[in-house]
Amino acid sequence: MSKFIPYGHQCIDDDDIQAVTGVLQSDWLTTGPAVDAFEKAVAEFVGAKYAVAVSSGTAALHTAMYAIGIEADDEVIVPPMTFAATANAVVFRGATPVFCDVDADTLLIDHSLVGAKIGPRTKAIIAVDYTGQPCDYDALREIADKNNLALVADACHSIGATYKGRQVGTLADLTVFSFHPVKHITTGEGGMVVTDNTTYFERMKMFRNHCINADHRQRAEKGSWFYEIADLGYNYRITDFQCALGMSQLKKLPAWISRRQEIASQYNEAFADLAEVSPLAVAPEVCHVYHLYVVKLQGVDRKEVFGSLRNAGVGVNVHYIPVHLHSFYFKKFGTTEKLCPVAEASYEQILTLPIYPVMTNDDVQYVISTVLGVLNGGMETV
Ligand SMILES: *Cc1c(COP(=O)(O)O)cnc(C)c1O
Repeated sequence: MSKFIPYGHQCIDDDDIQAVTGVLQSDWLTTGPAVDAFEKAVAEFVGAKYAVAVSSGTAALHTAMYAIGIEADDEVIVPPMTFAATANAVVFRGATPVFCDVDADTLLIDHSLVGAKIGPRTKAIIAVDYTGQPCDYDALREIADKNNLALVADACHSIGATYKGRQVGTLADLTVFSFHPVKHITTGEGGMVVTDNTTYFERMKMFRNHCINADHRQRAEKGSWFYEIADLGYNYRITDFQCALGMSQLKKLPAWISRRQEIASQYNEAFADLAEVSPLAVAPEVCHVYHLYVVKLQGVDRKEVFGSLRNAGVGVNVHYIPVHLHSFYFKKFGTTEKLCPVAEASYEQILTLPIYPVMTNDDVQYVISTVLGVLNGGMETV
């Protein structure tokens, strides 16, 4: 079987390539005007005041944790149904991630359980817009405000989504994006944090550049060699050619989101009458942008279905192994099974089907007929 449809794939066209080569022929390869322009464009697109571009979504999460002053002995509440980087970013600061279980229907953090996780050391909540559906930010904001916590959105799945008509990027104190190739738009590797808070913004600009208090352009303007390192930072800078790619990709984001939504509704329709396959619930007040299309399987063996679909060239996947079940978390924090029963039970059932803008209608139909064929007990119908 030569055909293979991956669960996600980037889309690069001639405009993207020209944007990158244009920068390669210019004077600035890094920390130059294309970085500023991309930050400005994303901030405008999502309705935020400030943006700081960095080298990955993981670096962006780490940078956000630094911005709000997370230090050793602090606790940050995170959901387990996410990529490990969400919780790892807390650990990078020497702090402790406290796992709060998810809602069974959406697999988003269950805000009714957050209160019980708050203690004297709790400093923040990271909400993860899993699959591209925004969390219930009104409920989370109320909890955060009442307990004096920062609210951070891991929006690596949800750029362009809305909640009650408000855009992702305006719903939390800090919002984090990833531009990895499987995400909505790509810079190869890359990430960004957006905020309306001037202090957070200043701290993040320092953190991505070793916490040096003046970048090379500021020093050049002053004709001075002097700079000060007042705290421990990192090299989380992103290049200008990556940001030129990001700018070019951003223009196409609205059309790509529409295409993802179109594919999702084709799947929803095709699986509506199947007892074995249930798409995750979508809240009526959100616009879901479908980074992932995840279903829960019932009454069938997930491993068998996974294997049959992979053999037929359908690149299904599982997002995610609950973070607290990874051996690192067990060794370091003693997290064990039963800590988040809903996430753990859901993990046994979930399956991610391919979804990306350049998937053709034929690809979508192939995935649908293959799923139906596998569930009807044979590959012959495919
Ligand atoms: C992709 C992703 C990240 C990490 O982003 P990278 O750019 O790969 O470092 C973090 N959180 C979530 C939810 C993600 O999907």
